[in-house]
Amino acid sequence: MAGASALVAAGLVTLPASSALAAPGCSVTYSANQWQGGFTASITIRNVGDPINGWTLRFTFPDSGQRVSQGWSATWSQSGSQVTAQSMSWNGNLATGASTSIGFNGSWSGSNPAPTSFSVNNVACNGTAPTTPPTGGPTGGPTTPPTTPPTTPPGTGGPNPGRVDNPYAGATGYVNPEWKAKAESVSGGNRVSSTPTGVWIDRIAAIEGTPDSSSNGPMGVRDHLDEALAQGVGYIQFVIYNLPGRDCAALASNGELEADEIDQYKTAYIDPIAAIQADPAYRSLRIINIIEIDSLPNLVTNVSPRETATANCDTMKANGNYVKGVGYALAKLGALPNTYNYIDAGHHGWIGWDDNFRASAQIFAEAARAEGSTTANVHGFIANTANYSATVEPYLNVTEQNRQSTWIDWNRYVDEQRFAQALRTELISQGFSSNIGMLIDTSRNGWGGSARPTGPVTSGDINQQVDGSRIDRRIHLGNWCNQSGAGLGERPRANPATGIDAYVWIKPPGESDGSSTLIDNDEGKGFDRMCDPTYGGNPRNNNNMSGALSGAPISGAWFSAQFQQLMQNAYPAL
Ligand code: BGC
Repeated sequence: MAGASALVAAGLVTLPASSALAAPGCSVTYSANQWQGGFTASITIRNVGDPINGWTLRFTFPDSGQRVSQGWSATWSQSGSQVTAQSMSWNGNLATGASTSIGFNGSWSGSNPAPTSFSVNNVACNGTAPTTPPTGGPTGGPTTPPTTPPTTPPGTGGPNPGRVDNPYAGATGYVNPEWKAKAESVSGGNRVSSTPTGVWIDRIAAIEGTPDSSSNGPMGVRDHLDEALAQGVGYIQFVIYNLPGRDCAALASNGELEADEIDQYKTAYIDPIAAIQADPAYRSLRIINIIEIDSLPNLVTNVSPRETATANCDTMKANGNYVKGVGYALAKLGALPNTYNYIDAGHHGWIGWDDNFRASAQIFAEAARAEGSTTANVHGFIANTANYSATVEPYLNVTEQNRQSTWIDWNRYVDEQRFAQALRTELISQGFSSNIGMLIDTSRNGWGGSARPTGPVTSGDINQQVDGSRIDRRIHLGNWCNQSGAGLGERPRANPATGIDAYVWIKPPGESDGSSTLIDNDEGKGFDRMCDPTYGGNPRNNNNMSGALSGAPISGAWFSAQFQQLMQNAYPAL
């Protein structure tokens, strides 16, 4: 860059170790090469305290015109003048004395002064140099700032594009040709068939493609990524869905791995997926991984001594393999520079109760720190995947009075958006980044059609008011299989509300949740009577009728009649 002048500022500073258990201490050097309007900054973080497992660097730009436009080797974000850089899984562990280098390209107007104070994990690195040199660490005095251009992160074939804050913003999504063909097999399906939907990797064979299975087609992970490049899209959504002992509270989506097969999960499932996603050919794509539907919340709500406990969930809690599997998936997939991990967070009708809400956030944090992962591997969470809870109940707010109604039943929430926003706050307080974003699966929660209320009901008793006002027409909030009366929900879009990265269609509409009668199959799928319209329920739906459509094939298989009803009851209407 002709005429570029080197602007160098070094802030090297350490905090004397205090008597805390993990004595913190850090030093940071900052240097920048700038030209009119732009600059490249290099930052070295050195840990002079006890070993750290994941770091968050914060600093403030002195001039309001300074912006980070693209960073590498960390997850970068900026709010006002405050900049945050969070470690990646491959550079988050810093032993005493270890350092790591990160950087970004930025823009400026006015002036471009170097920031003067930095903190790592909320411990200030500015101040005076320690009087006692930290053991094993550098001994004070500014180090020579790096003058080299951005380094290439390990294992990559080109410059790290850096993660963006919201992978859905300003990007078009991948349309799965296999789902598109199924949607277009139904009259009128072409009205929605170009909608991005999740690509479910629901068994090991799906990594290569499964020509013979009833739920997935011949395209494997690499085929979908190649096709995404051919479509010229910005993002693609995979669903990582093959935990050992999968779907422990239900039978319809039991998987191929036994409860103790965590090693197979790692080496035969996650490792090969990560290897394909790591191919530099796909570096231009934002690869979104939805991590393990219906797993972690089960460890809160469906375990002993609760009445809702199942033996399988007790097993998965005891052996720790859901937590380990999720941690491993986060660490492996999060190590790639262009992947975005979103963990499944159930829905309001599952963990919206006080007994479940914080406990679920805690177990998500535990999983995010398992198997070498850190919370930095988590870009966000998704609510309502493959469920039917409304995004927004337009005519219903939770009040102390209506919490007593049969429908709300003391829940704090009646819809996904308010639930997701509140859960986001709770997750941040459990140690997740303040930059996490939420997703809501709106594929089948539209609840349009003639049964949709047009305004609040304010007369009658509290049950009549709530039942007359709610757009979610289910018999009970715990019903989850092929719900009668459901419609397509909001079409996918980015930034629909505060804290929400996107509305997405992760469950491909028209794919069954489970068979209404027992159907033999070689996919490990069981028959769950919650998919049988004649079933009177269990403790998890308070012994109500299942509300399921009849004539359904096994989970994942195409259910044309359901797709027709979803289109008919779409809201917004098609
Ligand atoms: C099934 C999967 C399927 C997915 C998407 C799940 O319920 O178990 O096999 O890929 O739904 O339809």
